[in-house]
Amino acid sequence: MAVRAELLKNIWSVEPYVPGEQPQEKVVKLNTNENPYPPAPGVQEALASLDPADFRLYPDPASGVLVKALAENYKVSEDQIFVGVGSDDVLALCFLTFFNSGKPILFPDITYSFYKVWADLYRIPYECPELDKDFRIVKEDYYRQNGGIIFPNPNAPTAIYEELDFIEDVLEHNRDSIVIVDEAYVDFAGRSAMELVGKYDNLIVTQTFSKARSMAGMRIGYAVSDPDLIRCLNDVKYSFNSYTMSRAALVCGAAAVKDRDYLEETVRKIKETRERTKKELAELGFEFTDSKANFLFARHPEHDAGQLFEELKKANIYVRHWKDEKISQYLRITIGTDEEMDELFDFLRKRLS
Ligand SMILES: *Cc1c(COP(=O)(O)O)cnc(C)c1O
Repeated sequence: MAVRAELLKNIWSVEPYVPGEQPQEKVVKLNTNENPYPPAPGVQEALASLDPADFRLYPDPASGVLVKALAENYKVSEDQIFVGVGSDDVLALCFLTFFNSGKPILFPDITYSFYKVWADLYRIPYECPELDKDFRIVKEDYYRQNGGIIFPNPNAPTAIYEELDFIEDVLEHNRDSIVIVDEAYVDFAGRSAMELVGKYDNLIVTQTFSKARSMAGMRIGYAVSDPDLIRCLNDVKYSFNSYTMSRAALVCGAAAVKDRDYLEETVRKIKETRERTKKELAELGFEFTDSKANFLFARHPEHDAGQLFEELKKANIYVRHWKDEKISQYLRITIGTDEEMDELFDFLRKRLS
């Protein structure tokens, strides 16, 4: 039954974010930038240590074990860390908490498409400066009045990483705005802006366990920032849902953070496969940005991306494709295992020859 016009007036209607498909059958899954390798071995032990009898009790609302593990890992104090149900949760709370000036917030026209959805959801005005012709963020576009700034580094889906002097320039020009750097992919790229947190009290850096730490299914993300801003985030969180992190997420997350060698090893393997994928795709005639993430953003000058996307899907190889005009000739291809990438190369070699 259609909602009556009288009721409709009071219903908040938004255009939702469209997540990548999660097919339930087995496919070569290169569409949502998950990690092809399992999480650190300590995660299995942490899971085994859980006693279901404890599930009757609420978890620690302050997420102490996880916050402590992250603080030790990044050598910051515990009051500089906020954790949430994936960085999507952390980012959504940041929008709600910090973007209230009434002035438009700024984020690139081509970027993580959730930003626009949250802005619409919370009725935050926004402007989207265009990337340049090479898909780079133009930092000067962010040197103007605004109600806050957010961009990923590396950016998604372009995979391009900007060095810290770029971030610092944006911060220097925006001392009175909150600047959020979404570092979902930074482990594959270079230095994290976290080292600037002590210097700029308006900087928030967010990261996730979903990509480099192989735990998308556990839903853990975090922000590192000035203690005053972290306190504001916690106040909003406690006004919304105080027990966000499950007991399982807390202990598994803490175990994953402690195994730095495993993280490094996994990241190294993925970067190797990424560089190999660049070579293979270049030989097949693809063009792509200089990816510093765990995915490539690639186009073929002679083949329609939408069509390739559909054909790949029929062959059970899932990649991501958007219909937005500016990027409709690109495919975003997650870096999987070498075997998974070989299946992709085999298909493309046959299809394009
Ligand atoms: C994957 C991703 C996120 C969100 O990840 P979570 O799984 O919610 O932690 C945030 N930003 C960007 C740019 C991403 O690609």
